[in-house]
Amino acid sequence: MIMKRFLLIPLAFAALALVPACGKKEPAPETAAPAAAAFQWQVDQFADLKILRYQVSGFEELTPAQKELVYYLSEAAQSGRDITFAQNYKHNLLIRKTLDAVVEGYKGDRKGPEWAKFMVYVKRVWFSNGIHHHYAYDKFIPEFTPDYFASLIKGSEGVAFPLAPGQTIDDLITFLRPILFDPAVDAKKISLDPSEDLVTHSAVNFYEGVTQAEVEKLYGALIGKNDPTPISYGLNSRVVKKNGKVVEEVASINGLYGPAIAKIVFWLEKAAGVAENDQQRKVIEKLIEYYRTGDLKKFDEYNVLWVGDTASRVDFVNGFIEVYNDPMGRKATWEALVNIKDLAATRRAEAISAAAQWFEDNSPIDPRFKKKEVKGVSAKVIDAAMLGGAVYPSTPIGINLPNATWIRKTHGSKSVTLENITYANTQASLASGFGPEFCFSAEELDRSRKYGPQAGNLHTDLHEVLGHASGQLMPGVSVESLKNYHSPIEEARADLFALYYIMDNKMVELGLLPSLDAAKADYDANIRNGLMTQLTRIQPGKTITQAHMRSRSMVSHWVYEKGLPQKVVTRETKDGKTFFAINDYEKLRRLYGELLAVIQKITSEGDYAAARDLVEKYGVQVDPVLHQEVLARYAKLNLAPYTGFLNPELTPVIENGRIVDVKISYPVDYVQQMLRYGKQYSFL
Ligand code: ZN
Repeated sequence: MIMKRFLLIPLAFAALALVPACGKKEPAPETAAPAAAAFQWQVDQFADLKILRYQVSGFEELTPAQKELVYYLSEAAQSGRDITFAQNYKHNLLIRKTLDAVVEGYKGDRKGPEWAKFMVYVKRVWFSNGIHHHYAYDKFIPEFTPDYFASLIKGSEGVAFPLAPGQTIDDLITFLRPILFDPAVDAKKISLDPSEDLVTHSAVNFYEGVTQAEVEKLYGALIGKNDPTPISYGLNSRVVKKNGKVVEEVASINGLYGPAIAKIVFWLEKAAGVAENDQQRKVIEKLIEYYRTGDLKKFDEYNVLWVGDTASRVDFVNGFIEVYNDPMGRKATWEALVNIKDLAATRRAEAISAAAQWFEDNSPIDPRFKKKEVKGVSAKVIDAAMLGGAVYPSTPIGINLPNATWIRKTHGSKSVTLENITYANTQASLASGFGPEFCFSAEELDRSRKYGPQAGNLHTDLHEVLGHASGQLMPGVSVESLKNYHSPIEEARADLFALYYIMDNKMVELGLLPSLDAAKADYDANIRNGLMTQLTRIQPGKTITQAHMRSRSMVSHWVYEKGLPQKVVTRETKDGKTFFAINDYEKLRRLYGELLAVIQKITSEGDYAAARDLVEKYGVQVDPVLHQEVLARYAKLNLAPYTGFLNPELTPVIENGRIVDVKISYPVDYVQQMLRYGKQYSFL
């Protein structure tokens, strides 16, 4: 796996990023960028999920040509939706099409509790791009019965179910029953248990009929030993067995996922025609070439060009990008993001980026592991304009791409923070009861309200702009050395970099924080979250599986344990409730620095055993008693731990066959958006 990038939940901010149900009190205005206070941020809540909206404030500043570009790129962003569903699990598309047909066509009772349970299940499938939880990877089981499901399908009229040739409705029902309702069938999207075959035990659709050993053999033979510019082998393919042979099916316009890729290419070609400048046009054209051929060399060329395009106001990601969903850390899930540069906020990230060498030189790691020259860390702040594939509706708030190590080393990378997503989160959470419940003191709560968002944004910038880009590997060590422990270790490395530096006077010097008091808010939030509040996202009896959560748990438990003799962080009880209090911020900072040095050493030397010991000891296990307490306190607040974002809708204004303007609107109905996507972007 690769050096990377997605900070899924704003750490410093996790306390604020949780929103109570506000219900739908009034129909929200569907106008462009209304004032924050009048805007309905949260539009839906179900299971452990909530749906917010985000505003694209920079959209109105764009020229008509830039708006047209955003529109085409947005269509390309939605056109790959089916790919993500198909990749997550081989039956996801069949299931989604069946569910969509019932939602559209069921003529029976749509008001009762059974229907409500059905709709919760449907919305969860839409949210996760499949039937496995988007974050915990477990298959979620419907709360209605198989018989009720059968009655829904049979009671639907005027809609087409996805029947194979010769298949009847009853065949479809029989086929889907175990897939939906039997907990043992394809229970986990990704197996993380190193004692079993990671490939055969994962339901994710990157492999079919092959074992872990066969996959390792295939890529072991493909990968050249001394190639300084290796392609990302296997990134855009599926490995299957054909006539007894292990082969790759490669995604391209005429290959795997061809019909969806053809649509993506169709819209990208239009986008190339209205590109802002030559560089951007070349970027888009190279991406088209890559989609036409499936050639990963072209993908690298595209990435090099893309890194070089820093002048454009509109930018995008579209492709097979992140490898989190592959237990072997090689195959990427399709995603898309269209974004607009936020000019004011970009200056903040640029200040950090400009000082990159200072940060590297002063980092508390072994000098052998430091980059002599930190290169090309470009930093900017963006507003998301359209989310697609794996980043819809659950989106990261920071991105650092490309992932290929040699490109990052030679050409640098682009690091961005999604300002409007963070902003929507903050606005939606102002009324949350989460802070008062889990902050130990009034002072801590005040600090989190006063500085939380600012410190959180800065933390994200430090994590993305500097953290992932810092450090170097020893000769002969590859980023795959840490295997299944790569992701949590890499996230911890970037996070510790942010934690170490946010408490540095340099932050005040650069004008990024008003005082180091603001940095305390970030430490408070991290300790609270890593030791306690992130447990709200874990079901009783389960351990921690997600890479970012493992990272946070590991970092917080490590510093807690090491600081115990000096009472750096203490566990407190008040009114029968558990809290964690930081008593010495300077000492805590030193502990973060020490752990950063440890983790950098593990990364630089590719020390698998040390990575495993650290992650397994501090990052995975859950204290069942504390877990139960936290879940009970949390349940009383009626909050949803995971957030997704409804997309705006873009409508072209056409005169004489040409697009002369694009209107943006902010719908409030998640179900309507999902049904529309299902109709408009169903290509596989
Ligand atoms: Zn990261």
